[in-house]
Amino acid sequence: MIIGLDDTDSKEGMCTTYLAAVLIEKLASFGRIQGYPLLIRLNPNIIYKTRGNAAMAIPIELNRGEDAETVMKMVIDLVEEMAEFSAENTNPGVVFIEEASDDMKKDLAAFSLRAVQDVLEIREAEELLERYGISHKGFKNGRGLIGALAAAGFALTGLPDITYEVIAYREKKRWGTPRVIDEDSVWKAAEQPDTWDTVDHENRRIVFAPHSPDPILFGIRGKSELAVRRAFSFIKSEPFERYVVYMTNQNTDMHLLRAKIGEVLDCRSYILEGTVSKPPKTIVGGHVIFEISDGTSAIECAAFEPTKGFRSIIRKLRAGDKVTVYGSVKDGTLNLEKLKLTGLNHNELRNPLCCGKRMKSMGSGQGTRCEKCGAKAKEQVIESIKRNISKGFYEVPPCARRHLSKPLVRY
Ligand code: ATP
Repeated sequence: MIIGLDDTDSKEGMCTTYLAAVLIEKLASFGRIQGYPLLIRLNPNIIYKTRGNAAMAIPIELNRGEDAETVMKMVIDLVEEMAEFSAENTNPGVVFIEEASDDMKKDLAAFSLRAVQDVLEIREAEELLERYGISHKGFKNGRGLIGALAAAGFALTGLPDITYEVIAYREKKRWGTPRVIDEDSVWKAAEQPDTWDTVDHENRRIVFAPHSPDPILFGIRGKSELAVRRAFSFIKSEPFERYVVYMTNQNTDMHLLRAKIGEVLDCRSYILEGTVSKPPKTIVGGHVIFEISDGTSAIECAAFEPTKGFRSIIRKLRAGDKVTVYGSVKDGTLNLEKLKLTGLNHNELRNPLCCGKRMKSMGSGQGTRCEKCGAKAKEQVIESIKRNISKGFYEVPPCARRHLSKPLVRY
């Protein structure tokens, strides 16, 4: 059986991954987890999300003779007991996949991918659940069925790229209080190979622990179970209630679609190629904005204030530079996660040199004149200028990284 779960949390507390962690413990008397529980990040631009748009799936091989109905009832009872039903935006969904035809696998694979890259309607999840007779329970408006079915779909059909995260959960009596974590031990853990985003070196910040009142103490992301466990073993902190190693689609760029600028839609994420058509400018709040064009269409790109030092790279761009941008589109602006600078514009129009000095402009459209010898020139000249930026791939720092965004260390 694959159990899919979503939308049980609110900003004030709870977290769907915690409910899944508790469920994993309870499931131990009903069967054995097959492989890993899945922590899936869905479209990061969904307005209904609480925080990181996470959904969970737990594949389990039930004990011989175990009654599936009993397991489903236990899961539903747990959701009823633990989910934050009073929060307006909490609409839990649970699905149970017991068997799957090839057609069902095909449809679910497409649905799950769309849940990461596109915006779905609740009725699309309900239609699939009906068509294939998948047991499920939607609470309130049932929106959680979208994420629950998508996560279960990935558990059934697989992920093209995977990473791991070990998450430690706090003792209940500590929820809402400041987290007690030994900072030195975190920097030590961050040195362990094949893990990332535990700390932010450039900004001298620990980034692996949330500051919200939820049950998560911290999470360590990495390439393998071994890598995250090794780093985990270095952490000294308050006692934790439990921990779980999840397989995830985090840091895989699964949300990004390759597209032309003219095809872009709001609430989706893209990889777009173009030429800088309006140079960067810093606006109120410290956000840096520029425009790229592919000759047919143009789009504004933004490096917002939280991207910190990344903005100083962006400020060095010039009109005419060739770039590939990576990020989500909101209100017609691409929110930059990464940028590949593929071509530098070294050309600059300048007044010609004469008698060892720049000629002076004689007014708009009037050409230039040497102040010393009086020589005149009609046109400006193209000169090659030095640039203080190189071609290459640039990314936002870990403190500004989105869950799905692939860090350069993974390339
Ligand atoms: P947390 O990270 O703390 O678990 P969250 O950010 O995951 O919280 P949810 O409370 O799960 O947020 O809310 C997201 C809601 O949006 C869920 O109901 C989910 O089913 C739905 N959803 C997820 N992806 C899509 C999508 N691509 N299209 C439409 N709805 C979606």
